[in-house]
Amino acid sequence: MDLHPGDIVQIDTMLAGIPGMTGVHLIKGPEPALVDCGTQTSAPAVAAALEQAGIGPDDLAWIVLTHVHLDHCGAAGDLARAFPRATVVVHPRGARHLVDPARLVEGTHALFGDLSPAIGGLAPVPAERVREAADGDVIPLGDGRALRVVWAPGHARHHMALLDEGEGVLFAGDAVGVQMGGGQMYPTIPPPEYDVDAALATLDVLEGLGASRMYVSHFGPAAEPGEALDIGRRAQAAMGQAAREAHRRAPGDLGALRAAVDEAWPSDAALSTPDARVRWTAFNWLHNNMLGLQGMAEREARDA
Ligand SMILES: [Zn+2]
Repeated sequence: MDLHPGDIVQIDTMLAGIPGMTGVHLIKGPEPALVDCGTQTSAPAVAAALEQAGIGPDDLAWIVLTHVHLDHCGAAGDLARAFPRATVVVHPRGARHLVDPARLVEGTHALFGDLSPAIGGLAPVPAERVREAADGDVIPLGDGRALRVVWAPGHARHHMALLDEGEGVLFAGDAVGVQMGGGQMYPTIPPPEYDVDAALATLDVLEGLGASRMYVSHFGPAAEPGEALDIGRRAQAAMGQAAREAHRRAPGDLGALRAAVDEAWPSDAALSTPDARVRWTAFNWLHNNMLGLQGMAEREARDA
């Protein structure tokens, strides 16, 4: 748990016991909000961190989810039970998965295989606790402070970012990329919904917000938001283009796609330290990036 300016508390969910991999953020104030909540396996650690930050069971007002991938939303059911006053805010496309998580959990476990127990599932969130957020919706935090919902598709269709308007702080989720263990920002491009055109349009929208600080879920504040957005944009443009061309030349050849993508935007800078390599490999994220890009190329070829 780290205290940041603006009453923002960064909580390390210690996913799989590894520090600096997945973070969630508490915004303290009259109506405290938790932005993302980590995997179900992290629910006890996050609940303990909230208690340590002085948030009692009846204090938490909002659990705001950037998207319904289990490393962001898996603890939502458990935390909704532990904090009975909290409303869970989510993109309309994600809401049904919170209420009836079976398909989401099944799909995630199919992707992660033996690693699934470290992630856990998702306890259903009662429908009356879920609020669907439109683009531009404002979540009041009290004392005139508010979080603005910014739909941010690309990483997933139901991804959204949150802007703490007064403080100029952007919670970007997975829209920009991942920076872990001292490595450079690098995209996270999972199946099944990644869409590079939507992702690039989202990066333009996020840049237009002019945030002075930006947090990414994996992990922490970007040293310079504008630079991070620029790297995210150039990387995703290069990788998306390379994946499309590779798929055209050799449909279904994942090795060829990986070689083309890594040539277009090498992952070396993201993996430049031993800590970064541990975090990137723990859940096969680099491999999942390739599956995300291949899925996108196949979808586009099918729909063409
Ligand atoms: Zn995600």
